Amino acid sequence: MKITVLGSTGSIGVSTLDVLARHPDRFEVLALSGHRQVDLLADQCRKFRPAYAVVAGAAEAKRLTGLLAAEPGTEILHGPQALETIASLPDADAVMAAIVGAAGLAPTLAAARAGKRVLLANKEALVMAGAVFMAEVRRSGALLLPIDSEHNAVFQSMPHGYSGSMARSGVRRILLTASGGPFRTTPHAQLQTVTPEQAVAHPNWSMGRKISVDSATMMNKGLEVIEAHWLFNAPADRIEVVIHPQSVIHSLVDYIDGSVLAQLGNPDMRTPIAHALNWPQRIDSGVSPLDLFAVGQLNFERPDPVRFPCLELAYRALRAEGNAAAVLNAANEVAVTAFLERRLSFLGIADLIAATLDAVPRQELPDLDAVIEADRQGRDTASELLSRRFGG
Ligand code: NAD
Ligand code: MG
Repeated sequence: MKITVLGSTGSIGVSTLDVLARHPDRFEVLALSGHRQVDLLADQCRKFRPAYAVVAGAAEAKRLTGLLAAEPGTEILHGPQALETIASLPDADAVMAAIVGAAGLAPTLAAARAGKRVLLANKEALVMAGAVFMAEVRRSGALLLPIDSEHNAVFQSMPHGYSGSMARSGVRRILLTASGGPFRTTPHAQLQTVTPEQAVAHPNWSMGRKISVDSATMMNKGLEVIEAHWLFNAPADRIEVVIHPQSVIHSLVDYIDGSVLAQLGNPDMRTPIAHALNWPQRIDSGVSPLDLFAVGQLNFERPDPVRFPCLELAYRALRAEGNAAAVLNAANEVAVTAFLERRLSFLGIADLIAATLDAVPRQELPDLDAVIEADRQGRDTASELLSRRFGG
């Protein structure tokens, strides 16, 4: 199987290459993309010898060409269009979509359009463009497999060949677990002054900076509720969030007969990656076996809507339909960047997103152009509110 890895230099990308390297007989790396992390991408090219490597711009391409001078065989491309090219190569059997944020939408959609096995880590693509994306998957016959650990767990716990109808499958609810992030027990008064360093220090998972902040605000879980809606055709009131601090149960499916099926494992993204890469057959992922005696206890709590308002904002956007989720996602990206650059407080993240949702009028999202326009409107409005009201 030939694989394109979009975002190979990120946390998910590196875990993906780790799994691929364990099965050289089974997988071949066809293309990699690394945006601005040129040194790491050069190392990956030396090791995996892809036919293509994509970086952000001409300067990065020049540097990568220099670094790989002794090893020809990798064609070096740059820019957003090149990402779409490697996502839809006729030779590619599977595409790992592991670019972070809205930047991943166009290439992920290109992979879906080309009918690939799409391994979806880039949840923002689905949050922004769920209807357009799922229509494209249905039209092309692409195989969409979730990498997000919760959705991968739901996928594994759903009936085989799930048709997209919870009612016909006897499914009552989808229960998404959440670790609660680094501030699960932090009092509200202290959240005002938490720093980016504290926010990105996740207790259970090692991840990129953006998703780590999203986990700290619980917007990550909000985005995942929207992601679950599109992946499993689940209405908002059939998706519940359960805080489970050990991150051992990755999510659950509640059936009408009272059965609850779950997927468990150590918190290591190589499990869902290996599962999706070779589905329906299982392969070794390098993840150590779960030691339940070491885990000892599994705990569950209700999310606190006062300390974590982002979760409710995401439900609100999902119920509003149309452009709301794209605006929510755009405002969140602006807010998280501002927080990481110390231009916005931690609690300001939710306030800025709420203010942006209030300010942008509702619209339908019939096609990709409308999605891109909603993203732009969300970003512009959030940036303007940030400088006017939030002092950023
Ligand atoms: P990361 O920040 O570690 O890596 C992001 C990757 O995207 C890098 O390869 C980077 O070079 C590339 N990139 C960044 N900006 C880009 C741009 N403008 N254009 C093209 N490429 C760009 O992020 P990550 O933690 O690996 O997360 C990747 C995606 O997977 C996110 O959507 C995240 O929500 C999702 N995800 C991650 C995890 C995890 O454990 N890390 C779990 C579930 C879902
Ligand atoms: Mg997740």
